[in-house]
Amino acid sequence: MSFDSLGLHPALVNAVKRAGYTDPTSVQAAAIPLALAGKDLQVSAATGSGKTAAFMLPALHRLTETNPIKSKGPRVLVLTPTRELAQQVTKACTTYGGALPRLRVASILGGMPYGAQLKTLKEFVDVMVATPGRLLDHMERGSVDFSRLELLVLDEADRMLDMGFQEDIEKVVAALPANRQTMLFSATFDGAIAGMIQRILRNPQKLEI
Ligand code: AMP
Repeated sequence: MSFDSLGLHPALVNAVKRAGYTDPTSVQAAAIPLALAGKDLQVSAATGSGKTAAFMLPALHRLTETNPIKSKGPRVLVLTPTRELAQQVTKACTTYGGALPRLRVASILGGMPYGAQLKTLKEFVDVMVATPGRLLDHMERGSVDFSRLELLVLDEADRMLDMGFQEDIEKVVAALPANRQTMLFSATFDGAIAGMIQRILRNPQKLEI
């Protein structure tokens, strides 16, 4: 299996080659074609498996496919448990998305000043990477427009629940368009995660790598 045969836009294939990747990892080979077909996915894959590219490459492919609508809200939202993980995901997004013209990525992270984030939220955004608590703060102040949101990614969903983010996540999701694609990554699908999958995903394909 090579990156050329996954169905990704050539600019993204070039970007991963420039990053030094030769072949997709197992989770990438399994998830990317299903994600490009618009399926909801629940994926268990460890850190280090290449899971970030497994969701970020199809997310960026989406941005190459349809013309941006002139409105400010993000088309892709990635929720992560921690600021550090959000920063890694943001970095991956700019690395893989470097070749896409005018790609705009915003990070909305807890523990960082509000002022700069409010300014970011007033600008055009394609991909938003956020921790749930801070994002909900901004939403409750009325500063996020999710009307053009197409794809939601829940990264390390089990850790988000362990950290007490369940209620915040459900409130964020309630504000998103129902007609969207959702991908959930988690080490396990047990307990509270099972309920969340039921409520948030639609006929998900299950991948256990
Ligand atoms: P992740 O599991 O997403 O945290 O990725 C772990 C590391 O693997 C990151 O440093 C990526 O840059 C790297 N990586 C992701 N996909 C590939 C690939 N197909 N080939 C080589 N390295 C990769």
